[in-house]
Amino acid sequence: MSKTEETTATQKKDEALVWHAMKPYNPNNTLIAQQAKGVWVTDEEGNRYLDAMSGLWCVNIGYGREELAEAAFEQMKKLAYFPLTHSHTPAIELAEKLNEMLGGEYVFFYSNSGSEANEVAFKIARQYHQQKGETNRSKIISRYRSYHGNTLGALAATGQAQRKYKYEPFASGFLHVPPPDSYRSPVDSSKVGREREEVKAIEQMMVWELEETVAAVIMEPIITGGGILMPPEDYLQSVHDVCREKGALLIVDEVICGFGRTGEPFGFMHYGVKPDIITMAKGITSAYLPLSVTAVKKEIYDAFKGTEEYEYFRHVNTFGGNPAACAVALKNLEIMKKEGLFTRAKVVGETMLEMLNMKLAEHPKVGDIRGKGLLIGIELVEDKETKQPIDVQVVNKIIGRCKEKGVIIGKNGATVAGYNNVLTIAPPLIINDEEMSVVTQALTDSIQDILA
Ligand code: PMP
Repeated sequence: MSKTEETTATQKKDEALVWHAMKPYNPNNTLIAQQAKGVWVTDEEGNRYLDAMSGLWCVNIGYGREELAEAAFEQMKKLAYFPLTHSHTPAIELAEKLNEMLGGEYVFFYSNSGSEANEVAFKIARQYHQQKGETNRSKIISRYRSYHGNTLGALAATGQAQRKYKYEPFASGFLHVPPPDSYRSPVDSSKVGREREEVKAIEQMMVWELEETVAAVIMEPIITGGGILMPPEDYLQSVHDVCREKGALLIVDEVICGFGRTGEPFGFMHYGVKPDIITMAKGITSAYLPLSVTAVKKEIYDAFKGTEEYEYFRHVNTFGGNPAACAVALKNLEIMKKEGLFTRAKVVGETMLEMLNMKLAEHPKVGDIRGKGLLIGIELVEDKETKQPIDVQVVNKIIGRCKEKGVIIGKNGATVAGYNNVLTIAPPLIINDEEMSVVTQALTDSIQDILA
């Protein structure tokens, strides 16, 4: 059998047997990965692609790092599994390391995915208020255009109708407000801090809903899946102030923004806040093994310290914080530190934004180029005046053309239900200058070809 026939046979099998998320996201063109190293993924036919999306924004230290495979292997030989209803050393060591990164004061609950980390955060927030006798506080406020996960609670918090409506009804008590969006609602410089419309929307909602019924507000520091929405610099701090004043907890979802993606260890660190709860996944192991964490301020944890069994936090999972995943996370964090990857993401990201701006800013259909660190979005519009989002089929063609040129990029947005008009770039933080030029060139050429 020739190489090509062999591949076709595998693709046929894949088509028949594997139910892919988002199918037909990439119809008839499934990339069947065989191996990967650094930023490069090789398919069955030996074609190489530069993965400028780090998988699903997660392979932060790049592919093929043998140190991580060894960390998992060594840990599995020693202790492959033990539940965290008891404990084990890798979980303790990782908690210690994360606490150090966060500047202390946190306690860590382990689970398996970003979605679950958010579910845990909602449950902890609700039960925390119960423990304190604030029995009416159950509502969770999040933003339209946000994504917080695929499980029913995390999806209820998500603010993208097109991802949700087929799975209703959800858990009740999830409310949404508009997000800041520097492109579509440019910052009104006459208003700052709590005077900003997007902050007032949260405060107003708490007033109308009765503030004593609100348990928490959840947000990403920068909305990622909703189209890389840049907030004003004082937004997160102002939201935090509102939460404190009204007695609600601030949950920050760092599933994508965490672990260097935006050029800081965590995204919220750009904005001078110390959230009550922080959720993490993806980059914590650079996706080598599944692991997620819900970091909770110690004072919240302390409210659960009862002697009565009914006061326990009743979220048990089998795999959460498994020893090999924790060992991989520890090694991953060690590498990030040793290789200075947080700073690297900042520096490379700035250069990349500059290059993209130079090449694309004048294009009549490129509405906006924005981002922080290695989290970059290019918003495509029909017309720069009206900002009408460009048709998703055109976006798909650009992504397809980039792939033909050997570069994988993503699309996000949810600008209007059904539109995914923001091209997204989030390469591994180890990307070198030459590889960065490959991405910028492929993107520029593809945009110019398709939108000529
Ligand atoms: N929160 C955010 C911001 C995410 O982007 C994602 C996944 N892309 C999740 C939560 C859910 O993570 P997971 O897919 O690991 O459940």
